Amino acid sequence: MSYVANRLSVVKPSASMAASQAAKALRAKGFDVIDLGLGEPDFPTPPHIAEAAHKAALAGETLYTASAGTPALRAAVAEKFRRENGLDYGPDDIVVANGAKQIIFNALMATLNDGDEAILPAPYFVSYPEMVKLLGGVPVTPVCSAEAGFRLTPAVLEGAITPRTKWLFLNAPGNPSGAVYTAEEMQALGAVLAKHPQVLILSDEIYEHILFDGRSFVSFGQACPELRARTLIVNGVAKAYAMTGWRVGYAAGPAALIKAMTTVQSQSCTSVAAPMQAAALAALTGPQECIPAFKAAYERRRNLVVAGIAQIPGLSLPPPEGAFYAYIGCAGLIGKRTPAGEVLADDVAVSNYILAAGHVSSVPGTAYGLSPFFRISTATSDAVLIEAIARIARAVAALTEA
Ligand code: PMP
Repeated sequence: MSYVANRLSVVKPSASMAASQAAKALRAKGFDVIDLGLGEPDFPTPPHIAEAAHKAALAGETLYTASAGTPALRAAVAEKFRRENGLDYGPDDIVVANGAKQIIFNALMATLNDGDEAILPAPYFVSYPEMVKLLGGVPVTPVCSAEAGFRLTPAVLEGAITPRTKWLFLNAPGNPSGAVYTAEEMQALGAVLAKHPQVLILSDEIYEHILFDGRSFVSFGQACPELRARTLIVNGVAKAYAMTGWRVGYAAGPAALIKAMTTVQSQSCTSVAAPMQAAALAALTGPQECIPAFKAAYERRRNLVVAGIAQIPGLSLPPPEGAFYAYIGCAGLIGKRTPAGEVLADDVAVSNYILAAGHVSSVPGTAYGLSPFFRISTATSDAVLIEAIARIARAVAALTEA
């Protein structure tokens, strides 16, 4: 008999981690594998941010902090929301945690009762449904098709809401699709939500600064101020400042929800490590030049990947509007035969084939709730992306009609 708790039986390990491990295993056998499975910025954290952590540690910022985050960091987060999003939050409306992921986990832990539903528009970030299930909730995953720009429409939202709906998750720019919403599109969703007061809204805005073609970011909080009392805005320093490994995320929302999330945190990890909070403070209050510089690089790579994929028969990629992924449609490859004689039945087979034949790792769309697609990360150098596309093209060219 297993000693693992029953609640874990419904949870899958992260698919992007699994893809990355498969790539590492192949690499360990001596193959030159390009790992585009995991999505994280390939830039180093700006030095002034790293120095702030070092200085804080040497200056004695080595103790537990307030569970919600240091007063200085919460003030800087409030100032960030004012400066960048036109949103007015006080220190009691803000909580800091070990990454946006822990923010989301704490929010669900603090609110879900068994059987409560969370609407996760598909394609969704892989961790959303697993966290919901782990905490006793039920993921409801309406499909947002490529034809609909991977966006949730008011009609689809209306159809997904039930009396058990506790949360609607929105994530724009989205992982994996890169889709964003205009203020009007968010307001149209807001009009549906206004009729269902039991629904809380989690707006995951972690890719806020990675937005292309001259678009400017509109926070859900800004688009739908009338829903503020039930909106949690999730963000963090990981993507904007190339700080994934520093593990600092934050959220703004109604004080009662923030308080409940802080209680969860105080009884689990106590607080984010003090020097890491000092680093996040430096990120939010220091020079901001890295943000446009990173964005320009991601946009150039997006363009490169879109142009490359357009040359490969059987694959499709509408230009992602933000974030650093390409969610590539592979319907044209399903049913084709590999040189080894296998018929590609689904996007898992496609992703496995591209790894085996092209030595490029990706994550199959099934992990994001929408098939047949596979996701590659574009947060790597232009040269690596060019080589990866050439390999994918060669692997696809070797397929034959079944
Ligand atoms: N939300 C989305 C949509 C993400 O893609 C990610 C990271 N892949 C996170 C949250 C996690 O952010 P953090 O590193 O701050 O936990």
